[in-house]
Amino acid sequence: MTIELPAINGFNRPHFVLIPLMAAGHTIPMIDMACLLAGHGAAVTLITTPLNAARVKATADSIHMSGDPINIVALTFPAAEFGLPEGCENLDAVPTLDLIPNFFHACAALREPLVVHLRQVPTSPSCIIADSFHPWAHDLAVEFGVPRFMFNGFCSFSLLCRYVIYHEKILERIKEDEEQFIIPGLLHRVEISKDQCPKSIGGTVMVDFRDKMMAAEALADGVVINSFDELEPEYVAAFGKATGKTVMTIGPMLLCNEEDAAKTGRGNQSAIDEERCLSWLDGRRPGSVVYVSFGSLAKTPPEQVMEIGLGLEASNQAFVWVIKAGERSPEVEEWIERERFEERTKERGLLIRGWAPQRLILGHPAVGGFVTHCGWNSTLEGVTAGVPMATWPHFAEQFLNERLVVEILKIGVSVGVKKATMFVKDGRKDGAEPAAVRREEVERAVRRLMEEDGEGKEVRERARVMGEKARKAMKEGGSSHLNLNRLVRFARERERAQ
Ligand code: UDP
Repeated sequence: MTIELPAINGFNRPHFVLIPLMAAGHTIPMIDMACLLAGHGAAVTLITTPLNAARVKATADSIHMSGDPINIVALTFPAAEFGLPEGCENLDAVPTLDLIPNFFHACAALREPLVVHLRQVPTSPSCIIADSFHPWAHDLAVEFGVPRFMFNGFCSFSLLCRYVIYHEKILERIKEDEEQFIIPGLLHRVEISKDQCPKSIGGTVMVDFRDKMMAAEALADGVVINSFDELEPEYVAAFGKATGKTVMTIGPMLLCNEEDAAKTGRGNQSAIDEERCLSWLDGRRPGSVVYVSFGSLAKTPPEQVMEIGLGLEASNQAFVWVIKAGERSPEVEEWIERERFEERTKERGLLIRGWAPQRLILGHPAVGGFVTHCGWNSTLEGVTAGVPMATWPHFAEQFLNERLVVEILKIGVSVGVKKATMFVKDGRKDGAEPAAVRREEVERAVRRLMEEDGEGKEVRERARVMGEKARKAMKEGGSSHLNLNRLVRFARERERAQ
């Protein structure tokens, strides 16, 4: 079943079918990708589900207004059939860890209705770009006889680390979760523990699914990466060499549209009036505000939320702090009220309770530092804004991204988190989770991040220079711009050859 949407006016253009994972950190970059491909001469169909389509309505409306040949197709998501709660169409809505496999199986069930849809549209697909969490996309591409590129939202460095760790079966030799080991064969010395590795290559759950995913990745015709060559040149080349695949860096894809309107409503509706947010930032000195946010999935325990608040207050720094809806537990609300936290810090703090217009905030000149969970989108948004980061990884490949930012690029400082925390409740564990980072450590990290002299000055300068390179990569003639042209040309030529 599909929702009726305007038909693609894209005859004579290669037709890309994009299949993101239903999670903000995977869908947002794929919508950007759709806009970029359309801007480079392709027609695009982006597959999602009704509730996810509703979340990105503002973006979909502006795409529609622009007249770009992009079709957003919402397929009914079979949540109940797979034992998921009603309305559970996004990874952030999966209530417990044991239901994650059900979510991926429900995603795989989209294949059949998608085939029906693609057989009905006037332009058949020329190329599929699917998230690696959709290994079933391999059979889909075979069925339509078209090439398939893989995308999973990682940077080249983390993709390479994950590839090496998985294929060399390193985790099988590591006994203790916390034991640090060196990832072999990298240009830099990078140490990590099993606990800090992406669960998609470690752990004992979903082993079959993981192997299926890696096998589908091995069969992909190429890899599309939301990064740019100048950021991690050795790792782009090394990942291509290790896998033998065509690797195309086409980012930062967030630069697909530079208008303020396009910077809001990304991934969801903002919980704050954007004008209010901008005018608050307008009243601050350039580079003086620290922005604190942990992406779309991470759930911070109440005690940790309070420690962050108190650490921010003690840092004496102006801040914008995002508390997600899931964290607005009664304890947190009660604490905010009891402590009169907002009132106490109102001279220099802005609290956003819910979805923040992150791109808009990070792009504002008042923002001078970003405390981030190191999700790759957020990291790249920080890089593009040219601001230094304080890294606080939680899960997935975020600890690897931290190593890239702090140890290799040297554009950030580490908060010092050692242990991974999952984004979804482990139903087998009870009790309140303690705060992993105390208020004094939060304060220290923020002060280090925002310091204008010494080490801080160098980190800031490197971050600024990298931001400039990011923009250059996406401009006409830039490395990512050229790769986008290559990608569209590849699809066109493959189509002609058939
Ligand atoms: N995001 C946002 N507002 C929020 C939270 C997240 O706009 O309040 C966006 C953020 O800018 C990024 C994406 O959601 O583009 C999150 O992706 P990321 O890879 O950083 O982390 P994840 O959510 O996958 O952990």
